[in-house]
Formats: sequence, structure tokens, C-alpha cells
Amino acid sequence: MKTIKHHLTDDLLMRYSAGTLPEAFSLVVATHISLCDECRAQLGSFDAVGGELVDDVAPVAMSDESLAATLRMIIEQKSDEAEVEAPRESGVFPTPLQNYVSGDLKDVKWRKIGGGVSQMVLQTGDDASVRLLRIPAGTAVPDHGHNGTELTLVLKGAFVDEHDRFAAGDVEVANEDLNHTPVAEAGEDCICLAASDAPLVFKGLIPRLAQKFARI
Ligand code: ZN
Ligand code: ZN
Repeated sequence: MKTIKHHLTDDLLMRYSAGTLPEAFSLVVATHISLCDECRAQLGSFDAVGGELVDDVAPVAMSDESLAATLRMIIEQKSDEAEVEAPRESGVFPTPLQNYVSGDLKDVKWRKIGGGVSQMVLQTGDDASVRLLRIPAGTAVPDHGHNGTELTLVLKGAFVDEHDRFAAGDVEVANEDLNHTPVAEAGEDCICLAASDAPLVFKGLIPRLAQKFARI
């Protein structure tokens, strides 16, 4: 993967490590991590700290043998996890996302949501939602704000908004303070994975009407 410029926040990585993120956000985090060495390393350090905290809470006396056995178990488990998180060479989607789509980009069942934009909502818990978005080259997603947190991970192509440019692998973390109009760059459709824990706040009347149907 080429250079990733926009990463996950420490807060998100810590909550992912602690297992307290909604499933929809966890999918975006897992997908970014499978593409990003930097965030994967950072997550590793949070996992280690989390492990130490657990040790502090529950001290257990262990014989040398059981300690060695536990360490072996942890090492084996870690190597299993590493296998699961390793990016897949073929295809557009990283493995965590392929599991949710039951396939790759070619298997996505797109539904039009207006303005040329298509989506596929992925099945997760109700506390947040996650969808694949396809924004045709040169097309804008209407100007909107956010009631909660929105994570947008670019999988293919790139988009720009008032704040920055986001290319494949980059993740934009938006919250209540941010209004934006993402526009897919000319030349290639932009495919993103976007999760949010509250409906977006559209400024225009037409997008507000369309929003009901798109559940975005
Ligand atoms: Zn990263
Ligand atoms: Zn947004």
C-alpha cells in the first residue's frame, strides 16, 4: 500500500483494543489496520497496555510450567490473529471487509441513493451503521454536518473536501464540529467504507428528502 496520510485516532484504536466500539466502527478500524502498518503497530502497543491492566486487576500465582504454557498460547493466538489481519494480495477489498460483503468489489449489490451515488448497507449491530459508497468521478456528496462520529475509509479512487484530500487507505474522522462536501476526484469512481453512529445532517432540501430512503 502506498503512503497513507490520514490515520485512525488513538481514541478509536484504544476503544477497538478494549472491544468497546460498535461493530460498524470496528469493521472500518479492522479494514484500515489491515492496510496500515503504522496503525497496526500502534494498536499492538495498546493491546499490550490493555494486557498489563488486566494483569494488575487479576493477579494469579502461576507455576513456571503454566506461565510457559500461557505464553505459548498467547504467541499462537497472536500468530493466528496476524494471519487473519494480513492484507489479501488479490482483489480490491481487504479481508475483514470481504467477510462482510461475502466477496469483493465485483460482488457488491449497489443501490442508487440519488445524485449518481450508490450504496450497499452492510449488516452490523444497531448502535451504528456502515455502508459501502460509490461516488462517480467528479461527483459531490451533498454538503452535510454530523450528529455523531463518521468514519470514512477510502478503498479505491480519492475524494477531496474543504479540509483535505483522501486517497486509498486514508480515513477521515468527522464529528459534530465538521461540515463538508466530499467530491470524488475526476478520472476514477471513489469507493469508500463509511460508518456513522447518528444520521448525517444535510443542508439542502432535496438531499434531506432523499436521506429518508437511503437511511444515511
Ligand atoms: Zn493508519
Ligand atoms: Zn461526512
